[in-house]
Amino acid sequence: MKSDHPLTQLEADEQAEVLRNKLNKWANEYYVHDQPSVEDSVYDQAYQELVNLETDFPEIITPESPTQKVGDQTLSVLSKVTHTIPMLSLGDVFSKTELYEFINHLTKDGYPYDYNCELKIDGLAISLRYEKGKFVQGSTRGNGRIGEDITKNLETIKSIPKKLSKPIDIEVRGECYMPKSSFAELNEARQDNGEAPFANPRNAAAGSLRQLDPKVTAKRKLSTFMYNVADYSQVEATTQTELLQELAELGFNVNPEFRPVNSVDELNQYLDEFETRRDDLSYGIDGIVVKLNPLTDHGTLGATVKVPRWAIAYKFAPEEAETIVNDIEWTVGRTGVVTPTAVMDPVILAGTTVARASLHNPDYLIQKDIRLGDTVKLHKAGDIIPEISEYIPSKRPKDSQSYPIITHCPSCDSKLVHLDGEIALRCINPMCPAQLSEGLTHYASRDAMNIDGLGPKIVAQLFEKQLVNDVAGLYNLTFDELLTLDKFGEKSANNLLAAIDNSKANSLERLIYGLGIRHVGAKAARLIAQKVNDMDTLMQATSEEIAQINSLGLVIADSISTYFATEQAKKLIQQLKAAGVNMKYLGKSSTPSNSFFTDKRIVLTGKLADLSRSQVSEWLENQGAKVSSSVSKKTDLVIVGEDPGSKYDKALELSIEIWDESHLKQVMQQEN
Ligand code: NAD
Repeated sequence: MKSDHPLTQLEADEQAEVLRNKLNKWANEYYVHDQPSVEDSVYDQAYQELVNLETDFPEIITPESPTQKVGDQTLSVLSKVTHTIPMLSLGDVFSKTELYEFINHLTKDGYPYDYNCELKIDGLAISLRYEKGKFVQGSTRGNGRIGEDITKNLETIKSIPKKLSKPIDIEVRGECYMPKSSFAELNEARQDNGEAPFANPRNAAAGSLRQLDPKVTAKRKLSTFMYNVADYSQVEATTQTELLQELAELGFNVNPEFRPVNSVDELNQYLDEFETRRDDLSYGIDGIVVKLNPLTDHGTLGATVKVPRWAIAYKFAPEEAETIVNDIEWTVGRTGVVTPTAVMDPVILAGTTVARASLHNPDYLIQKDIRLGDTVKLHKAGDIIPEISEYIPSKRPKDSQSYPIITHCPSCDSKLVHLDGEIALRCINPMCPAQLSEGLTHYASRDAMNIDGLGPKIVAQLFEKQLVNDVAGLYNLTFDELLTLDKFGEKSANNLLAAIDNSKANSLERLIYGLGIRHVGAKAARLIAQKVNDMDTLMQATSEEIAQINSLGLVIADSISTYFATEQAKKLIQQLKAAGVNMKYLGKSSTPSNSFFTDKRIVLTGKLADLSRSQVSEWLENQGAKVSSSVSKKTDLVIVGEDPGSKYDKALELSIEIWDESHLKQVMQQEN
């Protein structure tokens, strides 16, 4: 203890105890439940306070201190894997000055300026074990010594090779992450289903990987970047840069942005480049990892109980902006979920103008206590979705009042409910105009009935002018009625009528998807349509029968049978039939066993000139092909459009059959 310290050891110990308890609670929410209740910066600040106290009073350190352990206990439901070589965390710094200090320290100890810079991927650490080149086990980091066995889940991830290019025994470590686009999609779907959104792509990836059912993981579009091995004697590389190259040659996905640096200028250039480019990457990063390059130095320097001494994470400051909340709007989604949204003075945040931020659900609004007139701090969750971090108490207007949670639907005034303990508030009136209007927009959307020109603004007008009440009403619209819409001339009225008319001829899967039945996505709709062939069969099918279609499962099946059990749904289908909407599946029957495409693995790359990618994928899948996103030895065919990228090169390298668009079109014509 320092004699001139403002605290006595007892006081320091008491403060440390408060911090330990708080940090351990937050770590449990973050690592075990994948649902943090505070921002990372709040956690990091409290963590730093604890580090400072423990540095001044080393006697107060306990084994339970978060500074002495990696992550948190593992969930009991998944089986455990012991890491014979521990999986560590990383020491972190939050400024360039601290980073230079870390490097200067090593330079003084005689280590040369030879570092490898890598992006710090915002995912979760995984370890993959291979025997004779075959993938045998995969696990999470857990508490660094004991992780969870997630082999079956990892097997669903395409970027993880099941077989390496060499028949070696090796344990490889890296990051499993969720691309930004999948993260945004997943959170939107969770919100629609009344589930709490994930705070960032890392928690989303963790929540998706630590599932008991690998099918859930498979749907979550995860990917990986590998960057380390458990034991350096398993590789030929002598530097970190070479190690990454060797991992890529073995068949792993390695982040291509790594770079050796040999001077402070080169280091700075890397840091500055990626602080700027981070918004343009398709995956989230939360910093840069700087690693001493020679692998022998890693052995010499070793590690503390928690972090290696040869690497450091330089964490980016979260981009923040301040603005004022002017209104809180409640909107009703297609599934009846009522969501509060903060409407704010527009402000630039991480390169885009932001004026709205979802407050997700009433609990969230109450917890954050956001009020009208509040000045709030904004950040972007996972670099994409604007979120309010907190209000600034000193700037709160004196007369401000808690914002009341609505009890009745803002659209139809029905009483709102919480279904089965959901956090979300729902309007359960099937005739609610807001839900119907969202439903109609969905019905017209590209993957559903694909009615060109029928976007949300036109739909809103159709409802406002009471020209339609539901999707069936679309087919009764007249030319004169359409002329009453804003900025609608004869040409637009005729075009819209033609598009509506064309939609009658769509194949059944588009209609099933367009009905907006909860949990039924475009792909499930296609599998169902292929199997049942017509709407009547589907309406008469039992939940168990539907569940068995391509193992769709009971959640989707129950949702479909509940939907068709309602009088409204039966009436709607009757009206659509009467309007002449096709009720039959028009694609090829499930998998034509004699098709050239049956069970072929096909990859599309580059821009197609005349066909849309989704059209081609749909057609190929109808022919029994499996359309995948990456080229490997197992790929049978690559279809190439304009400006193809690395997939084309890889196809050439692996001598995989390649077709251009015109050849594909010829074959499509022959097959149709
Ligand atoms: P970390 O995320 O700061 O860094 C270590 C991890 O970085 C490694 O385990 C690895 O998974 C990852 N990584 C990504 N790219 C890498 C690369 N190229 N090379 C090496 N590693 C790479 O440390 P942590 O121990 O996993 O988590 C601590 C952090 O988690 C805290 O700083 C805090 O931000 C956050 N956290 C937040 C809460 C909360 O309640 N909000 C709670 C606990 C932890």
